[in-house]
Amino acid sequence: MDKLWDIVIVGGGLGGLSLAAELAAPEFASLSVLVLEKRSQYVRDRTWSYWADTPHRYSYLERHQWHQWNVSLGETMHSQSSKRTSYASLDADAFYKAAVQAISQSSHVSLRMESGVANVALHNPAETLIRLEQGDTLRARRVFDARPLQQLEPSALVQQFTGWEVRTECDVFNPKQVKLMAFEPHPRGLHFWYVLPYSTRCALVESTWVSPLSWQPDYEAELRQYVAKLCDGNAYSVSYREHGVLSLQDAHAPITATIGLGRRGNTLRPATGYAFIDTVRHAAQLAKTLHTALRTGTDAAWQPKAFQRAATEHWMDAVFLDVLMRNWQRAPHYFMQLFSRATADDTVAFLTGQASWQQRLRIMRSLPTMPFASAALSRAVGQRV
Ligand SMILES: Cc1cc2nc3c(=O)[nH]c(=O)nc-3n(C[C@H](O)[C@H](O)[C@H](O)COP(=O)(O)OP(=O)(O)OC[C@H]3O[C@@H](n4cnc5c(N)ncnc54)[C@H](O)[C@@H]3O)c2cc1C
Repeated sequence: MDKLWDIVIVGGGLGGLSLAAELAAPEFASLSVLVLEKRSQYVRDRTWSYWADTPHRYSYLERHQWHQWNVSLGETMHSQSSKRTSYASLDADAFYKAAVQAISQSSHVSLRMESGVANVALHNPAETLIRLEQGDTLRARRVFDARPLQQLEPSALVQQFTGWEVRTECDVFNPKQVKLMAFEPHPRGLHFWYVLPYSTRCALVESTWVSPLSWQPDYEAELRQYVAKLCDGNAYSVSYREHGVLSLQDAHAPITATIGLGRRGNTLRPATGYAFIDTVRHAAQLAKTLHTALRTGTDAAWQPKAFQRAATEHWMDAVFLDVLMRNWQRAPHYFMQLFSRATADDTVAFLTGQASWQQRLRIMRSLPTMPFASAALSRAVGQRV
């Protein structure tokens, strides 16, 4: 109980380690920083993919980049390509290793594994108490919290997926082009296949559903059937598996003594399920403002800024999800229309939240007017249907 930490970060996953790695830089050496992580070791447990429109701290770890991508429905396929932007993919274990290395090279940031946190509570305006599951209590001036949010209701809208990294004995994949969404219309949700081809004989193949949490797909059966078809009956092996359930509804973190990081800090984009880039950038932004505060001697009054998505983008995402939920079987057609009518640059700008007003208008014009206008109107008058 004796030590008063300057900063405690609860949860050392993407959000927590991103901030800790930023704070491991020598300019923060006057601070004491502690990361409390529940797991006992870091292994590859996910694959982060994103639109690599600008470089970030971990760009050098990317496993593969693609400048072409496609969406398909039945026999119809729309491909897009961009010389400027790539779709990139990074294995989580490479990120964990780099962040843990940055921490271990610093004298002022510590990482404690197997340290699940049971509770975080404001003790007084200058001090927060962190109670560990093992019973100890720690004290900190500031706490950042990256623990997952509360349990979801069965009706919660989620993006859920299972992926296999498949290795084949003959050439199956085109390593130049990502299959972003190969749709299979279904009445219970939006179902699509996502294929990241790393080489002609290795790819991450994911069955993805946007649906209420209560919908339980039979991933194993789906994947066995789909991969067998891709391989045309030839032999394959599965070298890695991942599974994720991401809430797409507004995740309002409870008001607490902490600042949220990662998904707890609302960096997950509802319309896409992407969080990597915004999480890494939020951590860099926090470190930048803290550095300025330290330099100007105002660190005691430093107000860490929570991640905030632009209101227009937030609203467009909400309308988009409303439209999908109204008719799951029509939903693939909307995406197909978008990818056939919009340019690659407009699509990427929209998906990364960097779209200008002109680009947003062009995206809106690429979508069917009636369902979107009706959903927008319902939202405007506060009647979600
Ligand atoms: C399988 C999978 C694939 C994904 N793919 C992509 C993708 O391709 N692109 C993309 O942009 N996003 C993707 N995401 C979404 C998002 O980027 C990740 O979920 C990301 O890891 C979120 O970061 P985070 O810090 O919020 O959570 P996490 O990285 O999960 O970190 C939370 C940490 O808190 C720890 N913890 C939990 N409880 C406690 C406790 N009580 N005390 C202390 N520590 C605790 C956990 O062990 C974990 O290390 C994916 C998610 C999953 C699950």
